[in-house]
Amino acid sequence: MKYHIINFGCQMNLRDSEVMAGILEENGYERAESIDEADVILVNTCAVRDSAERKIFGQLGTLAELKKKKPSLKIGVTGCLAQRPETPSKIVKLAPHVDLLFGVHNQHEVAKLLQQVKAAEEMVVDIWDQEGDVLEHLPSRREDGLKAWVTIMYGCNNFCTYCVVPLVRGRERSRRPESILAEVRELGEKGYKEITLLGQNVNSYGKDLGGNYTFPDLLRDLDEVPGIERIRYMTSHPRDFSDRLIEVIAGSRKVCEHFHLPIQAGSDEILRRMNRGYTRETYLELIEKIRRAVPGASITTDIIVGFPGEEEGHFQETLDLVRAAQFDAAFTFIFSPRAGTPAAKMPGQVPYAVKKERLARLMEIQNEISLQKNLALVGQTVEVLVEGRSPKNPERLTGRTRTNKIVLFAGPEELVRQLVPVEIVRAKTWTLDGQVAAAN
Ligand code: SAM
Ligand code: SF4
Repeated sequence: MKYHIINFGCQMNLRDSEVMAGILEENGYERAESIDEADVILVNTCAVRDSAERKIFGQLGTLAELKKKKPSLKIGVTGCLAQRPETPSKIVKLAPHVDLLFGVHNQHEVAKLLQQVKAAEEMVVDIWDQEGDVLEHLPSRREDGLKAWVTIMYGCNNFCTYCVVPLVRGRERSRRPESILAEVRELGEKGYKEITLLGQNVNSYGKDLGGNYTFPDLLRDLDEVPGIERIRYMTSHPRDFSDRLIEVIAGSRKVCEHFHLPIQAGSDEILRRMNRGYTRETYLELIEKIRRAVPGASITTDIIVGFPGEEEGHFQETLDLVRAAQFDAAFTFIFSPRAGTPAAKMPGQVPYAVKKERLARLMEIQNEISLQKNLALVGQTVEVLVEGRSPKNPERLTGRTRTNKIVLFAGPEELVRQLVPVEIVRAKTWTLDGQVAAAN
């Protein structure tokens, strides 16, 4: 039996898919070279925005065609969307060809569930509404041999008023430090050079473990793991980004000088309604502190436009903040009302056309800042971890700086997987062009 996994959404989902792939392979499944070859297709879904949901149903429509040609094909749907209360009936109505629907809390049972599908006449639905214990020692099949995702905690306790994540992923559960360290040591031994620690709010790490081992302690210990050259983490919440965390990052060798700190909005009133727990001023102070402690740090963010009640004045405050903060890059989103979240029912929902227009204005300003930030790097030599040939231009290699910027440059295959000094010769909004710097 051959399997194929279609992934939607964030890195957390990618990592979950790697674990499901590992479990399937341990149970005798093989990875299909192409989707047409697959006997089982799993769709790992996202529920953060309506646009993701629409794409997923579009994808399921395409899979219906495939199943018509190959009736023995089994289709499973899992992930955050599967966890939404309205999804089972929607699937029955809109995608009745789905054979299996299971949630995020029982993905470790994927092989057993597929076994049930074989014997079943109808769609198998098994969604746990409660998170179970954190499971260790699950097999996994990592997608990449150079960079690895490492989940350090599951769930979220923050309840930002627009967000479904706490509703679908449950409460915060941290993995034990010794399990994480063992996993990362093994990755180092296998030749991985970079790890990204995953959690919805990594700076809450450890708070549920009952001791006083927290995220800075974890970073400090991981900094010692042989073989690993770079440590990244996502996502960190600006509210509890402590001085101690900044100090540990500033003093570490491997934790990269990149801070992804979602601001979401520039108006205190909107931030309060979003339940973010910080103000524009404390946020700006935080990034100032970071820039003082970690010179050359890059700072990126997430911004939502068109939150309920956002008027032009509030939006102007977001634009002002963007100008003041000088982010290296921003992921910008149109507010999407999600059923079950407080924001979906708030008064003052912003018309779609207004949201779209605000998004365009925001992106224009941020793109110019991103370009200026990149232009400032021209002439500098930066350390690039080379990932491979550029998919768009195989003549060139592609890699990232410690600050998470993409650099393209000409070079021999031997440089792949290496840390290479590259001089930046040209800057664009999203990428940098460079040349291998002469060794000194
Ligand atoms: N836990 C992370 C955090 O706090 O930033 C990220 C979680 S979320 C999957 C990623 C981003 O999606 C958020 O930072 C937010 O900007 C955006 N997002 C979440 N819910 C949204 C919604 N209902 N509409 C639009 N964007 C949303
Ligand atoms: Fe969602 Fe807020 Fe939790 Fe991030 S911190 S996952 S935005 S509730």
